[in-house]
Amino acid sequence: MSSFTTLNLPKSILENLEKLGYTNTTKIQEVSLPYILQGKDLIGQGKTGSGKTAAFGIGILLDLDLENTKTNSLVLCPTRELADQVAQELRKLARFEKNIKILTLCGGSPMKPQISSLSHGAHILVGTVGRVLDHFSKDTLDLSELKNVVLDEADKMLDMGFYEDILKILNKTSKKRQTLLFSATFEEKTKKLAEEILNNPMTVKVDTTHHKDVIKEIFYKSESKEELLIDSLKFHRPKSSIVFVNTKAKSYEVIDLLDEYGFDSILLNGDLEQYKRDEVMIQFSNHSFPILVATDVAARGLDIKNLDLVINYEYPFKEENYTHRIGRTARAGEEGVAISLFHNKEKILDETKLESCDFQLKDKTPITSDLETMCINGGKKAKVRKGDILGTLIKDLKLPNDSIKKIDITDRYSYVALKKSEKLDLQTIKIKGKKFKVWFL
Ligand code: ADP
Ligand code: MG
Repeated sequence: MSSFTTLNLPKSILENLEKLGYTNTTKIQEVSLPYILQGKDLIGQGKTGSGKTAAFGIGILLDLDLENTKTNSLVLCPTRELADQVAQELRKLARFEKNIKILTLCGGSPMKPQISSLSHGAHILVGTVGRVLDHFSKDTLDLSELKNVVLDEADKMLDMGFYEDILKILNKTSKKRQTLLFSATFEEKTKKLAEEILNNPMTVKVDTTHHKDVIKEIFYKSESKEELLIDSLKFHRPKSSIVFVNTKAKSYEVIDLLDEYGFDSILLNGDLEQYKRDEVMIQFSNHSFPILVATDVAARGLDIKNLDLVINYEYPFKEENYTHRIGRTARAGEEGVAISLFHNKEKILDETKLESCDFQLKDKTPITSDLETMCINGGKKAKVRKGDILGTLIKDLKLPNDSIKKIDITDRYSYVALKKSEKLDLQTIKIKGKKFKVWFL
């Protein structure tokens, strides 16, 4: 692992990286950044959690022409969640310079405000393929001066059938652009796309996440997977854990099972509407629910922090999904455990990971949360800010300081993780003199 200082980056960027706690480059950053900074096209292959965002992020941020408010860089992502995450990471990385405008263009939000933001200009656009194409067809997007394009999680975009759409977008951009393609896997389709859109690319590949060694992989097998799930949760007692299943049908079974045993768990699968998925992720990341039951499609690529346990209730069909799943734990240097459950009749792929499931439980209680999420019907658009919410809750409603654990504010809503013991019985709340509806999720 090498330090960012060997890369000859401007001092302001280095200082910001240090503030973010990024002192050493991750492997993919170490091997790709020299080429990216030289302006070369690049294919970067690295597992989830290897730090790909900062690899291309630093590259495009340093290439910006701030005077030019026409779009300099376009980052295409497979899903809205990923686009939001990439934009968030880019905004952190961009803090070394005040005037960098980063805009997300995703479906699920109305076009009009996006069009208006676009008309004011943005240096970097992060978006999903579908929505970016929508803007094209409406002529509300000008990519004529694009200097670089990033395809993030290209394999996933192709799985979703965006091959032609990606080409449609790229055909309208300058041939002189720098194109960076990142992908966890590199199958035929991805290769074909790379050949079409990249110009003499360098290829870098890293097998490891920079913290692979801190994921402990354990396999358990027994006569009953249901029991195994319940007992392994009671044994490991995670603060925050994802239980992965292979199908939506199984996700309903598992959530019912956990429910029956008294665990506080919440479901994330492709049946949920977008707003519901967002809410689920907020409730999980603010610790109102210690356990998330998820399918791969729904959870792919999400950067969920501080997971101490990942459980494969079902071993994934594809080996690459195994990597994706266990990569959710121990991200960026934290320690994590990844458990896979097998039925006695199932074939075990790697006997060396097998451990005894004779648990001798010290604590037999289910895992629950003492928090719940209050939703306020007003967010950034209504100019609601954390400090104002805290003001109302602490000063007006006399809640103790430590009963408020986390506040998330989205465009239209604010979410507060509150101690359940506070039993607030409210229909409305006044924030800075303005009345808002509230409810508990
Ligand atoms: P990928 O896109 O490869 O899955 P991300 O870009 O989402 O990975 O990064 C994974 C996590 O690692 C993020 O939380 C990010 O903030 C963190 N990270 C990235 N680069 C570094 C670094 N050099 N040092 C420490 N943490 C890093
Ligand atoms: Mg990524």
